[in-house]
Amino acid sequence: MSAKIAIIGSGPSGFYAADTFAKKLPNCQIDIIERLHTPFGLVRAGVAPDHQGTKNVTRQFERTMNNDNVRFVGNVEIGRDVSYQDLKDLYDIIFLAIGASVDRKMGITGEDLKGVYGSSAFVNWYNGHPDFVDLTPKLGPKGVAIIGNGNVAIDIVRVLAKSTEELEGSDLCQHAEEAIQAVDLRDYYMIGRRGAAQAAFTPSEANELGHLAQCHPVILNDDLTQKPQEDDLKAQKNKEKNMEILRDLNGTDRADKPKTLHMQFWAKPVEILGQDCVEGLRLERTALVDGKLQGTGETFDIEVSTIISAIGYETAPFDGLPMDGGIVKNNDGIVEDGVYVAGWCKHGPQGTIPTNRKESMEMAKLAIEQFNGDSGKKGPAGLDNLLAERNVTPVDFDNWKKIEAAEEAAARPGRVREKQVSF
Ligand code: NAP
Repeated sequence: MSAKIAIIGSGPSGFYAADTFAKKLPNCQIDIIERLHTPFGLVRAGVAPDHQGTKNVTRQFERTMNNDNVRFVGNVEIGRDVSYQDLKDLYDIIFLAIGASVDRKMGITGEDLKGVYGSSAFVNWYNGHPDFVDLTPKLGPKGVAIIGNGNVAIDIVRVLAKSTEELEGSDLCQHAEEAIQAVDLRDYYMIGRRGAAQAAFTPSEANELGHLAQCHPVILNDDLTQKPQEDDLKAQKNKEKNMEILRDLNGTDRADKPKTLHMQFWAKPVEILGQDCVEGLRLERTALVDGKLQGTGETFDIEVSTIISAIGYETAPFDGLPMDGGIVKNNDGIVEDGVYVAGWCKHGPQGTIPTNRKESMEMAKLAIEQFNGDSGKKGPAGLDNLLAERNVTPVDFDNWKKIEAAEEAAARPGRVREKQVSF
């Protein structure tokens, strides 16, 4: 049975599915279709540039590409070059792993002022995503407020607060490093609408905040005595560990660190202040009342020039794809006959690469179970014809390896690569 399979999106969920298909259906033909010239999705454009260990997962993905029946088809965008209907006509199985790349809005006054950015845009900018390389965010002269208490918020704090020496071994893009280091940022605010015991970040990321060479974390408006109340045992343990770490951080000496991370708990943004550009942020104090988060009516302002909301993402749909809120409409991962979905576009932006791995592999196994046999669809050969007719030149994995070699050769001293940001 030679199944023709299209995986849309070349991030971790796409690659883990490809690996499962290649192992379980050795005769299948798999196209991993990607809108960028470069593979690996969030591993390249989302994972923090100073977390190179996490990026090593690409070695596994390269092994998947060693299968003769797996192709990387870059520079092909569904909705622009190929329609959803084209995919259904060409392939037996369509596996959507398109992630969630659109920033959620805070929905407050002033969100359109210059100096306000979503974390997807901001992180993509410093990670060299071609769509965001011209973002040139307004940084300084005052502080930066990062909204949200998740790992993305912590990633952004680190990237903004680290010295060039601390960025040794990273792949932070030169344009971003120069822009960040050019401003004398002293104050970073991380705004949590709930308390430390409810914070979404994980212990190893919280721990890193205590090891910044120039930035001292200060805990505001939380006495760190609350006991986390999670139903899930792992989440409970993580949150207890978070509290332990924060208590330790709180007791540390500032030494001569010139920068301050103000970890502001129990406050939600209600208005962004300024005329054309951000000049400040108005926050309302919050409290849990009968388990529900409520504003107390008491507000206070902080002076900042930049606001980055790190409050989560939605999936960017293409024409014809059924959506449900910010995700692809699906029933336990099934979108319609022969169409499956996994990762952040299935359930929203939650979980790390390892936690999404299992789900992606399970969905691929389900697709195999439900595969009815070869339908005579044209698969990769049909895609090649269609792309040629439409004058689209795809990028294959060998092309990518050349880009990668050039990026490594262009690395500045102490950096692992200098990413190519336009194609
Ligand atoms: P997240 O973990 O869901 O955190 C989002 C944060 O935004 C939460 O603190 C949330 O508060 C807050 N928030 C949501 N809506 C808000 C609003 N309207 N106003 C104020 N605050 C609001 O999301 P994320 O940080 O984007 O991370 C996404 C996923 O990627 C997570 O699973 C994360 O662990 C993973 N990730 C992992 C790593 C790593 O392993 N190193 C790095 C980056 C990301 P509430 O809790 O009150 O809703």
